[in-house]
Amino acid sequence: MTLIKELKSALGEETVLTGDRIGGRYRSDESHTGRELPLAVLRPATVEAVSKALSICDRHRQSIVPQGGLTGLAGGANPRTTDIALSLERLSGVEEIDSAAATMTVYAGTPLEVAQRAAEEAGFLLPIDLGSRGSCQIGGNIATNAGGIRVIRHGVTRDNVLGLEAVIADGTVLCSLSKVLKNNTGYDLRQLFIGSEGTLGIVTRAVLKLKPLPTSRSTALCALGSYDNAVALLRMAQVMLANVSAFEVMWESYFRFNADLLGLKFFEADFPFTVIVEEDLFGGEQGTERFETFLGAALEAGLIEDALIAQSEKEARNFWAVREGSAIDKALPSLFNFDISMPIGGIGDFVEECGAALLARFPGAHVSFFGHIGDSNLHIIVATADGSEEDLHATDKITYDLVRRYSGSISAEHGVGTLKRDYLGHSRNPEELAVMRRIKAALDPNGILNPGKVLPPATVLPSPRARGEG
Ligand SMILES: Cc1cc2nc3c(=O)[nH]c(=O)nc-3n(C[C@H](O)[C@H](O)[C@H](O)COP(=O)(O)OP(=O)(O)OC[C@H]3O[C@@H](n4cnc5c(N)ncnc54)[C@H](O)[C@@H]3O)c2cc1C
Repeated sequence: MTLIKELKSALGEETVLTGDRIGGRYRSDESHTGRELPLAVLRPATVEAVSKALSICDRHRQSIVPQGGLTGLAGGANPRTTDIALSLERLSGVEEIDSAAATMTVYAGTPLEVAQRAAEEAGFLLPIDLGSRGSCQIGGNIATNAGGIRVIRHGVTRDNVLGLEAVIADGTVLCSLSKVLKNNTGYDLRQLFIGSEGTLGIVTRAVLKLKPLPTSRSTALCALGSYDNAVALLRMAQVMLANVSAFEVMWESYFRFNADLLGLKFFEADFPFTVIVEEDLFGGEQGTERFETFLGAALEAGLIEDALIAQSEKEARNFWAVREGSAIDKALPSLFNFDISMPIGGIGDFVEECGAALLARFPGAHVSFFGHIGDSNLHIIVATADGSEEDLHATDKITYDLVRRYSGSISAEHGVGTLKRDYLGHSRNPEELAVMRRIKAALDPNGILNPGKVLPPATVLPSPRARGEG
């Protein structure tokens, strides 16, 4: 029996899309770099079906590309014409909310926003939150170890996963849907799958931590004169405020560009840095007094030049609209978006050096910086005159070479996929890469899971004889 026939007979016709039934959306994630449609798309609706699909494909040595909500920005979910895409879109739903344990058990294909709403209806906060919440899926968030705007308070996705179920390449279901925080019983297999971008297994279910639901938030927009003052303000906020839930820094060029695009004006003058500080409030607490005391102390210490406290949700949304840069994609349609991290103390110097190097190479280009500085995470927006692939490669090289020099990571939250794969060695040493390859070979000996993603092709090492050892 051919592979497709076998898949159709095991999973049912409706689960296996081929030919014209494969929609164009299965071609690419949000990086828009995928050009090819896969050989087939599998849409299993049960864990058992995922397991059957993998065991059949493994026997046929057929490559599989897992697809979640396709909001990834690293090309990790893009198939080639020879791959089969396995979409988790039908493996969706919240299985259980355990109020005593404060956990949610959820299927991988559940859109993040659906899971967030279910948590809120039960009186909890699901702490994972990103701008793509309407489309990205819990499985994709886990596979990319997604970050987002609340990391400073709740950690990255990895910190919010208590239990995990994943199917490995031969179809074995590894189910460890633990609800406990403390579980020191040998290797923590769940961590292998978190952030592995579909190269080690397919995430099918997870147990996520839930947190108390804030009843409101205090939000301020602060104008600052230097990066050092931004770091000092962060440390002051963490001492003086009870629950800092966001600390977002925008360099002048980013803030001014986006505020102008949105037609918003907040301060009379332009300042080198603008920061959003947010604090979660609980139990009807108003908190403005504590927040005002903090801002007053920051003014007195000379850390901030000016500050606005949002008086309404609308005002807070306006602060965030600038940070989220909702109009920038339209204004700069072929922009390059970088997502890097490095020790917080070096970010100010990095920005100066990187900005100067990029503008020297591309005079007149748009280059701007913003980031979740409390998490050491910096984003860079670059738009060159023609936005060509050649420009992208040159920009990658300038940026990632500098990231390496500053002991940073070439991917803070978006993952590696294909787009950063060839620079992985800038952030990981050869010993780490060798162990990663051994783990990959142990879990997926036939190399069927998301081949070509994350790990660069192994460097051909000289043979023992060539090294004079044999
Ligand atoms: C507007 C916007 C805002 C964003 N903001 C953020 C942000 O703040 N922080 C952040 O970290 N990212 C952000 N992203 C990037 C993206 O949303 C995240 O990487 C997200 O976690 C991807 O989830 P997804 O379901 O769309 O996965 P996909 O894009 O479908 O896949 C991503 C990777 O995970 C693999 N994968 C997907 N599902 C599974 C599964 N069930 N099992 C195994 N592997 C799987 C895929 O093969 C691929 O390698 C943003 C993207 C957009 C478009």
